[in-house]
Amino acid sequence: MRKVLHYLFHTRNHTFIMLHLLLQGLVYAEYTWEVFGYCQELGFSLHYLLLPYLLLVINLVFFTLSCVSNPGTITKANEFSLLQVYEFDEVMFPKNMKCFTCNVRKPARSKHCRVCNRCVHRFDHHCVWVNNCIGAWNARYFLIYLLTLTASAATMAVVSTVFLVQLVVVSDLYLETYVDDLGHLQVIDIVFLIQYLFLTLPRIVFMLGFVVMLSFLLGGYLCFTLYLAATNQTTNEWYRGDRAWCHHCPHVARPPSAEPQVYRNIHSHGLWSNLGEIFLPAAAHCAEKMN
Ligand SMILES: [Zn+2]
Ligand SMILES: [Zn+2]
Repeated sequence: MRKVLHYLFHTRNHTFIMLHLLLQGLVYAEYTWEVFGYCQELGFSLHYLLLPYLLLVINLVFFTLSCVSNPGTITKANEFSLLQVYEFDEVMFPKNMKCFTCNVRKPARSKHCRVCNRCVHRFDHHCVWVNNCIGAWNARYFLIYLLTLTASAATMAVVSTVFLVQLVVVSDLYLETYVDDLGHLQVIDIVFLIQYLFLTLPRIVFMLGFVVMLSFLLGGYLCFTLYLAATNQTTNEWYRGDRAWCHHCPHVARPPSAEPQVYRNIHSHGLWSNLGEIFLPAAAHCAEKMN
């Protein structure tokens, strides 16, 4: 068990990429096979029904880019220029730190990824779903990937819900009555309706439950990622933020009497500038300046 977990989460492997594609394939197959045809019969607009496919194409492009792009690997060749990009805050990222595994000096905001065994510039996190680190150079791809994945799950949830509601309305199902266990005539309520729909259209209702759950999970994570982008923080910095003063950190030796130093985000320069940095990584500005 430990070996399996180690393989899944601590080594680079394609398991979650395969699982991702399998689940995406199953949801889209169900959508195409049943929902699409039924919705057309009910007169839904074709633009509306094709939207999930458009989102799928964009999503797969940015999924691929997130998987294969260089997140910002620090090498001997780019070490010097990357050291100039961000200011050292001397709390979370002290100057003159070295990674002995990669044999490079660590730029501010970088981190050594133990899964990929490399130092990454503006390291955010290692994502098992794309089997790659998310760093300065691919954060933009990852953000668009997450945005389109959330949008496709939400669009499918809306289309499927509207379809089921239409079905109930068109067939006057909600006006029906049934006889309960005690022999009384009952008007159909929402619980009975859901049970009825699950028995008659099990795959669609199951898919709807799955995409609704995904929409909330991905939507929550997307909000968190947008918050980090808007405030110019990485997940790594956010996680370490309130403990960076830092008894746990062996590199920052402080006298016992020293006041705890609270980490302050020195990289935020306003909303638009922060968002711009995701799409035009600061390394690019630096390289331009140096040229
Ligand atoms: Zn390293
Ligand atoms: Zn990694």
